[in-house]
Amino acid sequence: MGKVMGRVTKKEKCNQCGHAATVTRGDYRFDEMGLPVVLRKVEIIQCSECGTTEPVIPHMNGLMDTLALAVVCQPYRLQGDELRFLRTYAGKSAKEFAALVHLDNTTLSKMENGERVIGPQTDKLVRLLVLNMSPELSGKVGEFIAMMSDIDDDPRGDPPRISINPATMHYQYA
Ligand SMILES: [Zn+2]
Repeated sequence: MGKVMGRVTKKEKCNQCGHAATVTRGDYRFDEMGLPVVLRKVEIIQCSECGTTEPVIPHMNGLMDTLALAVVCQPYRLQGDELRFLRTYAGKSAKEFAALVHLDNTTLSKMENGERVIGPQTDKLVRLLVLNMSPELSGKVGEFIAMMSDIDDDPRGDPPRISINPATMHYQYA
């Protein structure tokens, strides 16, 4: 499903069928985490036998942490799929999370499905909560608070696409 650009670097076995597969390095659209993320300069295994295309991700947990940090620090209002991603990243069920932020279950569900706009205060509460609940990200709270007042409260029509280089864990918004 990913769009692949890059050059062939070596051959490897397909994880799905064991056939010899081509490995390229390039950008890969990775939607498996529930958000439109682009992984930059990753190795991509492409199997011509079974059609499998998959990126090589050495540090999946670190990638999740980086994506969560990028979403928390984005200078735009959170959208539904971003809220759902952050809640899932924090390991909370919809019911648990709704109770934490004092929303009823239906309202939270509508927000996550994009049927209801996430209010600017709920947005900030969610970000602070998720940062604090993550052992990997809780040290970034001060950094986040420093940029909090610069977050644009106008909902964006297009969600920002986040790109991450998994080798350096640098992220940027497109
Ligand atoms: Zn295959």
